Amino acid sequence: MSYQVLARKYRPENFQEVLGQQHVTQTLLNAFSRERIAHAYLFAGPRGVGKTTTARILAKALNCLEDSKGNPCNKCGNCQEIASSRSMDVLEIDGASNRGIDEIRNLRELVKYSPINAKFKVFIIDEVHMLTQAAFNALLKTLEEPPSHVKFIFATTEANKVLPTILSRCQRHDFHRMSLEMIESGLKKVIEAENVQMEETVYHLIGTIADGSMRDALSIADQLIAFCGDSVALQATTEMLGIIPSDLFFGITDALQSKDRSVLLEQLAEVHSKGFALTDFIAGLNSHLLNLLIVSGDNGVELLDVTDDLKKRYGEAGNRWDGRDLIRHMDHVTKMESEIKQVQQPKIYLEAMMLKLAEMDSSVAISDLLKQLSGGNPTIVKVEKAPPQKVVPRAKTGVKNSPMPEDVDKKKEVPSETVTKNERNKPEAVSDPGPVVTLESLEQHWEEVVGKVSENGTSIGTFLSHGQPTEVAGSKVTIGFPERYRFQLDVLKKNARRVETSLEKVFGKKLKVNFFLQKGDASSAELDDSNHPVTQRVLELFSGEGTN
Ligand SMILES: [Zn+2]
Repeated sequence: MSYQVLARKYRPENFQEVLGQQHVTQTLLNAFSRERIAHAYLFAGPRGVGKTTTARILAKALNCLEDSKGNPCNKCGNCQEIASSRSMDVLEIDGASNRGIDEIRNLRELVKYSPINAKFKVFIIDEVHMLTQAAFNALLKTLEEPPSHVKFIFATTEANKVLPTILSRCQRHDFHRMSLEMIESGLKKVIEAENVQMEETVYHLIGTIADGSMRDALSIADQLIAFCGDSVALQATTEMLGIIPSDLFFGITDALQSKDRSVLLEQLAEVHSKGFALTDFIAGLNSHLLNLLIVSGDNGVELLDVTDDLKKRYGEAGNRWDGRDLIRHMDHVTKMESEIKQVQQPKIYLEAMMLKLAEMDSSVAISDLLKQLSGGNPTIVKVEKAPPQKVVPRAKTGVKNSPMPEDVDKKKEVPSETVTKNERNKPEAVSDPGPVVTLESLEQHWEEVVGKVSENGTSIGTFLSHGQPTEVAGSKVTIGFPERYRFQLDVLKKNARRVETSLEKVFGKKLKVNFFLQKGDASSAELDDSNHPVTQRVLELFSGEGTN
């Protein structure tokens, strides 16, 4: 017997079985019970979340020979023909490969004829936004005067590219990206039904890679079963999918912390020998550092989007780190992400940069210094005059030669709120025309933006979900955070680009994002007496922090 791919074998057969899209399927079911079926539907949403599956169920429900009330029997001749794509009356057309005027003209010819066996002729056009302008116009004519025996179901991943005149003639339903949990539990049911043993962590891994798409999750599972057989273990999975194991990242950060160069080079040699792409490695290292940063606070572990085992491990490792050292490492690693694409010898570049990271000195906590200074301990005052490269890793800021610099750029240490406000007053940096984004449209799509940001598997999305869009001015977007999310806001600032990338994906336009704390003095949480002259001095000393 030939192997049937999981996505096909376990394809939902009625509306109730479609995962995660109840807001759509329930509306469709209601339409059946009220006998108010539209003549054209548009299903919009990300790939692999059930749009064409739902379209097929709808086609079956329309044509089922039983009195199905929206629940196709899946047994009658019509249901079976549609399920096996043999129906002469339900036609699935791929908009991507049939995008021209001729195809649509043919379609218009077909529309004229009554259905052969079914009650309705149903045209399912997938990726409808791919049609040419001429094809759209031809289609529009059909939509304007549809014969009563015809139903159209359009599916698209890019509803913004569908002509407004088409949109206005369709009943639109937006499908949601599926949550990691939903994919994991859906996958688990399938795998158990297949009698395959799968290690618990593998579900999570597949869910993360599948990126909101159940279809992708099932096709990864197909590959794994083909590769591993009836027992799918984590190690085989990471090997097959080319995933860099967490062990390696923990090994690297441990070596950075203990400044053990030989261990560091050993770990990097493993990156090379296993053939991991260096860009993947650097991106993974950045996510790993971010996870450490999140747990280096008191109660960040629950925010991590990782398995329980990994949470425990991050919890232990994070305790050993000072958050500011991690932020500095992330600064460098982020720079490496772009630089490594341009260098002639990426392998040597990576090793050199990682060794440089290992050489960086650790931060001294400002609060500790302050405590000691205000305690009047005279020996500590020397710290102020001691070579600042101990605390400022990039000592070429001019700080080195002047113990009390007055003219060092203090911007980086100004409380975040102030910086944000200054930036908000700057003239427009991006003058990209493109679609107009308003505060209203941003609010409407906010969940989608958060979802997109979450797709990279880090907690940035969770952090972002604490914020609220407060202003959109041209291409500048401002997100406000309640005071208690100061930490999350700081991390988000480091990762503004990821948020901007997601905004661009959602709105098709380059947008600049600013984050700010909504009220109160942002600095008070960290430094109790920031106006104290000693504090000012210390802040000046630390002003090189975070610059490049
Ligand atoms: Zn039926």
